[in-house]
Amino acid sequence: MERIGRFRRLGLIARNTLAFEVELRPGTSPVFIPGQYVYLEWKDPASDVRSGDGRNFSVASPPKDLPVLSFATRLTGSPFKKSLLSLPEGSPMFVSGPYGEFCLPVCLGERRNESWDAPVALIAGGIGITPFRSMLLHAIDLCQSLSFFLFTMNPSPEDIPFRLELESLSETHKNLFLCQHVLQSGVSLPPEVNLGPLTPDKIFGIMGQKALKGSYFVSGPPSLVTSFRTALLGAGVLPEQIHTDLFFGYS
Ligand SMILES: Cc1cc2nc3c(=O)[nH]c(=O)nc-3n(C[C@H](O)[C@H](O)[C@H](O)COP(=O)(O)OP(=O)(O)OC[C@H]3O[C@@H](n4cnc5c(N)ncnc54)[C@H](O)[C@@H]3O)c2cc1C
Repeated sequence: MERIGRFRRLGLIARNTLAFEVELRPGTSPVFIPGQYVYLEWKDPASDVRSGDGRNFSVASPPKDLPVLSFATRLTGSPFKKSLLSLPEGSPMFVSGPYGEFCLPVCLGERRNESWDAPVALIAGGIGITPFRSMLLHAIDLCQSLSFFLFTMNPSPEDIPFRLELESLSETHKNLFLCQHVLQSGVSLPPEVNLGPLTPDKIFGIMGQKALKGSYFVSGPPSLVTSFRTALLGAGVLPEQIHTDLFFGYS
């Protein structure tokens, strides 16, 4: 089903990374489960015709923020992203969806919080953090007996989307462990950020004894997600424990 909302730019949340939101008309909010995505399209302000060239975006906000949906994206310089950057505030945006099943079992109602003690590993490649922000802002208070381990991978500290917000979330929630990895130190390396590649061994070391019982959610550019899935399988994680969200359009 398609809905119409108003576009609002929120600003840069990392290098070349724009956050924006869409406020839907009252009473038209989609019921979405954290981890799902929508298809966004808008009219070209110059011609007032529908661009016909939309993109999929994971919702980065929790359901409690409805009728507002928020998103984050890398500004790649593509015509689509240039058009997004120059879109006037308040422009109508067409929202279709929600789509996808990249959701925590506990949010799908498959298991009850009290009886589920396996840890949840959320592994984000760059902008792949968006579905995890929605999941965490929704589930972290709701499922206090669940241990969440959020791992992020980015080129350098300046590229980490939502860094300060996630650090503050992990400081205030004992059930969230945050581990951020970058490949270059950039201007300076903050103490909360690790230099060097993230590997399954590092993940298992942090998650401890229950690591092999855990659920693994991997999101981001397809090449990164696919190679990480292969590495997890090679390290002994079963296929049914691994859930992936491939952001086609990024290499
Ligand atoms: C489930 C899902 C969730 C996503 N969530 C986000 C998000 O939260 N934030 C975000 O920034 N991006 C997200 N993406 C990716 C997003 O839809 C765009 O593809 C991406 O932002 C790149 O757009 P672009 O205009 O910069 O690149 P473009 O220059 O338009 O695309 C780069 C290349 O990818 C190809 N391509 C574009 N779209 C697709 C597609 N759907 N399938 C296969 N090839 C394609 C193009 O043909 C081109 O070769 C998501 C994608 C999926 C599938």
